[in-house]
Amino acid sequence: MALIQRALVVGGGLGGMCAAIQLSKQGVDVELLEINPNWAPDGAGITISGPTLRALRQIGVVDEVLRDGGSWRAMDICDANGDLTCTVPITATPGAEDLPGAAGILRPVLAEILSRATRQAGVRVRLGQTFQEVRQDEDGVDVTFNDGSRGRFDLVIGADGVNSAVRKLVLPNFAGPQFTGQGSWRAVVPRQRENGAMFMGRTTKAGMNPISENECYLFVLDKRADMDFIPEEQWPAMLAELLEEFGGDVGDIRKSLLEGSLRNPRLLYRPLAGHIVDAPWHKGRIVLLGDAVHATTPHLASGAGIAIEGAIVLAEELSHRHSLEAALTAYSMRHFERASLVVHASGRLGQIEQNGGSQQEHAQVMVSALEALRAPI
Ligand SMILES: Cc1cc2nc3c(=O)[nH]c(=O)nc-3n(C[C@H](O)[C@H](O)[C@H](O)COP(=O)(O)OP(=O)(O)OC[C@H]3O[C@@H](n4cnc5c(N)ncnc54)[C@H](O)[C@@H]3O)c2cc1C
Repeated sequence: MALIQRALVVGGGLGGMCAAIQLSKQGVDVELLEINPNWAPDGAGITISGPTLRALRQIGVVDEVLRDGGSWRAMDICDANGDLTCTVPITATPGAEDLPGAAGILRPVLAEILSRATRQAGVRVRLGQTFQEVRQDEDGVDVTFNDGSRGRFDLVIGADGVNSAVRKLVLPNFAGPQFTGQGSWRAVVPRQRENGAMFMGRTTKAGMNPISENECYLFVLDKRADMDFIPEEQWPAMLAELLEEFGGDVGDIRKSLLEGSLRNPRLLYRPLAGHIVDAPWHKGRIVLLGDAVHATTPHLASGAGIAIEGAIVLAEELSHRHSLEAALTAYSMRHFERASLVVHASGRLGQIEQNGGSQQEHAQVMVSALEALRAPI
């Protein structure tokens, strides 16, 4: 008999939707709770690494992601004026040799693709909803929702992001995410190149990755003293200042920032925080997934990837273990090393950038982490 028949997924982000889809494929009756009534993330671009494309193929949505996003097979390394220094090919990921080396897409477009797949898989989606009370016993979990309704489930999956409320039920003493000393700037701009591109300034690196036929997103990290809120009206001038040393493509974006033609929602600032929770990631019949247990900075563009891979691993372990306790333990033991690699290597890259550390070490940490992530999950 199957280990679980009814599951509740709290959080309809990338990890939660993928867990709901994979469990539904196994015949589990899944309900998904999403607090945002519009079920829509911010309008930023996201980079999808080769291993993440491989995972999205397993979920069943890679064709739509490639159709509605942008992809590339090489990275242009340019100087601060935008002149090409070299082009580095991105080799396809083992097990996904027919797919491009990397892709990018607007987050709301990716969320729309996955939300369609979630509904098509038969998941019952409750938008604008969260839980009020959760009580578990040996045989199940009773959940009271914020509209007063109730349900009983065999498993509750907390995929409710970096500030997870479900995490408080599993790990009441966990301190929460730590600010990493950097903020992230992202802007959606017209696509200029076939390939992804990095522009190497003296003190700042800017990247530009395609997200569709015609658009790409610029990303830049900025050393910051704290997580302070920055009013949106200050964003264009602050990013323009950060991009001062750039000419060429990045210089053109700087001009549009100064002219006022690039504002939210096409421009976004977010301070960066991260954490990795020691395994196991469950207590009884409540288990955590994605940023709730392994939130990372975007240096390896793999945070969403490990949330999606975690969903696949969790569903696989639930499908073939003999007890729920064994399945949930095996899930975190199997996924911890990969998640920890992403969080720690990304954190190290951020430290080197903030301290003006060795470029050689930066390249070596990045290359060896990306190589390790090409291994099967
Ligand atoms: C600036 C930045 C850039 C990034 N760039 C990349 C990139 O290029 N590539 C990449 O792979 N990763 C990237 N990441 C990481 C990636 O965004 C995350 O790792 C990923 O979104 C995690 O997915 P998740 O499903 O765990 O959480 P989330 O995407 O945060 O989803 C959580 C969901 O839960 C919902 N929720 C929250 N609380 C409740 C509640 N109480 N009840 C019900 N629902 C609730 C939220 O509304 C949300 O929909 C980036 C991260 C940052 C900060």
